[in-house]
Amino acid sequence: MSAATSLPGDTPALALPALAVACPTCNSPAGALCTSHSGTRPRRADVHQARTRAHQEQTR
Ligand SMILES: [Zn+2]
Repeated sequence: MSAATSLPGDTPALALPALAVACPTCNSPAGALCTSHSGTRPRRADVHQARTRAHQEQTR
């Protein structure tokens, strides 16, 4: 995890199980937050829907 400066309570997305897989939308690697289209702003509140689906498909 690369969240040394962020507490989980500050970044709800860190608690999402979908972080265990890479994001097909923004190409964020497993364990890293999703980013905006520019890749400079992390999405702290959630992850992309495609990432959630990818995780569900890998764990069903
Ligand atoms: Zn993403």
